[in-house]
Amino acid sequence: MNFAEVIVDVTTKNLDRPFDYRIPDKWKGMVKKGMRVIVPFGPRKVQGFVINVKDDSHLPKKSVKYIAEMIDLTPVLTEELLQLSDWLTEKTLSYKTTALQAMLPAAMKAKYAKEIKVIKNKPLTEPLKSLFSGKTSLSYTEFNDHDVLKLIQQQVQAGNLEVAYKVSQKTNKKMRKTVALLGSKAELQKALDEISPQAVKQKAILKFFIEKEISQSVPLKDLFEKTGSSSTSLKALLQKGLLQENEEEVYRDPFQDKSFKKTEPLSLTEEQTQAYQAISEALEKKRHDVFLLHGVTGSGKTEIYLQSIEKVLKAGKEAIVLVPEISLTPQMVKRFKGRFGSQVAVLHSGLSTGEKYDEWRKIHRKEVRLVVGARSAIFAPFENLGMMIIDEEHETSYKQEEMPRYHAKEVAIQRAQYHKCPVILGSATPTLESFARAKKGVYKLLSLKYRVNYQAMPDVSIIDMRNELRNGNRSMFSRELMADLEQMLEKGEQAVLFLNKRGYSSFVMCRDCGYVIQCPHCEISLTYHRAGQRLKCHYCGFETGMPATCPECTSEHIRYFGTGTQRVEEELNKVLPQARVIRMDVDTTSRKGAHEKLLSSFGQGKADILLGTQMIAKGLDFENVTLVGVLSADTMLHIPDFRAAEKTFQLMTQVSGRAGRHQKPGRVIIQSYTPSHYSIQLTKTHDYEAFFQQEMLHRKYQAYPPYYYLALITVSHEEVTKAALVTEKIAQYLKKNISGDAKILGPAASPIVKIKDRYRYQCVIKYKQENELTSLLKNMMDHYNRDIEEKQLIISIDMNPYMMM
Ligand code: ADP
Ligand code: ZN
Ligand code: ZN
Repeated sequence: MNFAEVIVDVTTKNLDRPFDYRIPDKWKGMVKKGMRVIVPFGPRKVQGFVINVKDDSHLPKKSVKYIAEMIDLTPVLTEELLQLSDWLTEKTLSYKTTALQAMLPAAMKAKYAKEIKVIKNKPLTEPLKSLFSGKTSLSYTEFNDHDVLKLIQQQVQAGNLEVAYKVSQKTNKKMRKTVALLGSKAELQKALDEISPQAVKQKAILKFFIEKEISQSVPLKDLFEKTGSSSTSLKALLQKGLLQENEEEVYRDPFQDKSFKKTEPLSLTEEQTQAYQAISEALEKKRHDVFLLHGVTGSGKTEIYLQSIEKVLKAGKEAIVLVPEISLTPQMVKRFKGRFGSQVAVLHSGLSTGEKYDEWRKIHRKEVRLVVGARSAIFAPFENLGMMIIDEEHETSYKQEEMPRYHAKEVAIQRAQYHKCPVILGSATPTLESFARAKKGVYKLLSLKYRVNYQAMPDVSIIDMRNELRNGNRSMFSRELMADLEQMLEKGEQAVLFLNKRGYSSFVMCRDCGYVIQCPHCEISLTYHRAGQRLKCHYCGFETGMPATCPECTSEHIRYFGTGTQRVEEELNKVLPQARVIRMDVDTTSRKGAHEKLLSSFGQGKADILLGTQMIAKGLDFENVTLVGVLSADTMLHIPDFRAAEKTFQLMTQVSGRAGRHQKPGRVIIQSYTPSHYSIQLTKTHDYEAFFQQEMLHRKYQAYPPYYYLALITVSHEEVTKAALVTEKIAQYLKKNISGDAKILGPAASPIVKIKDRYRYQCVIKYKQENELTSLLKNMMDHYNRDIEEKQLIISIDMNPYMMM
């Protein structure tokens, strides 16, 4: 192979294609598909991905430049992931290089120094043995010799060496020195026999390793203590290549704790069995079915995941489990590590760049066969995937909000087709899109209607906060919630108080009747703008003044709405001074590990009330929690998003699910100024189906998903007029070229009008089937890209948006 096709790391539309490069003779046979290289590009040198190697180039040979450097020694992307990147590029309208980069851990995106590392306990052969001469790592730059490099490549492929990145570690990381066996047992014995009798300490060390059958590394400190030896005698043995000294991190990360108690499969309930069997069958028949596992909170979905995974692993295959970042708590991780131990890698945002890369390497080296992680774990480079599971499939964090704007669910389904394996989407409150697909038979519906052991669903009361006001209660706690909190304290039980706060809560509501001012055209709440006291619709641009009185009941108590957790805590301390409160919000959890710490002290009963935002809605499973209070259900209901009702129902259901999960029955109190809204009312009966029916009517009437697809185009520019004008032009262009079935909304100012001094405008396309849409949008982008003057302009396209801001 003489030539490589390379996707260069340059994000310009007309350069977004592979370029041919010549492979230098010394690297013939070494450069492979899926490796990264450095290539000359114009006056610069840039990174690139090799997506193909070939014998010939159709270009004039002289014009083809040479690859300057090999970054990887083994492919970092598999054949499948390379194919997937094409699909990703097309689907999200992103650059090829952006799509490729998205599949790799961050450590590999930046320019970190590389080193070649000896993998523990793998003795090296010559000439590498003398090259390393007892050292465990050498800088990558030390290997210029072609033959040596080739040898190293072989050893990397064989799993004896690895390429590692020197990612600067967080300063608070604790390291310790350890010693590991390098030679075989026989070699040790031989050395012991040959060593001079005076070298007592050396003998002691060797005996220690022989007698204790130590295959893992031993902390240096322990070794010295146990053998009475010191570094001089150790050094002699290191030089003989029998032992090896390493630096190891002393893990503080709770997820890395190796002491997970092993758990055994539970015997499944009848409902669980049915679901499990359906999944099993798909596994056996190698069908890429998508299952929607719809089960009420506490119905034992996780146990189904665990047993299905077990089957996958037994068949010698691999699995990926996605859980929302926020519920990637030690509690959740424990369930997977408890069942599968060291076969599990965990990828979550709490890990440092280096730690994430370490986990990725375990996957790449096939040391683990199960990954539990947040969104990007869906790109885990497994080659023999047997299953992908997306827990809480309705969570919006599965959608990436920057390029490439992919949804992990779609990626999973795409990968499943390649691997011929099933995908499981689990939720107590699936998205309307997924449930509608399940109803149509596109997905296979598996239902768990009961909690395990038929525990009762919690009893839900909905409190009309308008009544509280009428009765002279101006506090943020209703009388019923106060009474229940007091009772809870007396019984020594625990409560979770939930304040639904999105940074964004400036809708206008009447405190007397609960009326919220909405757009007459879009059925979403209007957003209050302090400047000029205006109310605006961020879908269509409708605008109106702030009314002095409520249009519904003429009350003057009409104003915008929003409270912070800190204020609630102060209030709580005033009215219930005896209660111990733990507050969890972005302020109290910003430090690494703080989240876990707060939760575990609550679990140990060090507080009576856990007060928090969204982040406490999921995954919590505490025996002593009998009361859940939602301070205001309305904040979610009135965000300017057509999914507001769906999100409210999901959140209320999730939050309610935290109560009474064990022996003690649970109670939920939901406070609302709009208590009759179906998304709140139906929480009472835990009736997802009824909610689905109701909400579908609204979606149909307003032409929203799942009846229509959406695409969101956002234009930003430093000058407000320019942003508006371009958006207008784009809307016109689309209107002219799109089919009669599709609708264009806008242009309108984005809900967040200005970010970093750039003004933002948007328009929304609603469509059913629009075969030309992708090419229309590409043309539009090309048009603006070509225009040099438009450099200041940023246009982003979000196919299937989840954030409408
Ligand atoms: P979900 O994920 O549907 O909310 P979980 O998987 O968390 O539900 O299950 C709720 C509780 O029931 C957990 O404590 C789990 O260990 C337990 N559980 C699940 N399946 C069984 C079973 N078959 N037998 C007994 N306990 C079970
Ligand atoms: Zn009113
Ligand atoms: Zn509108």
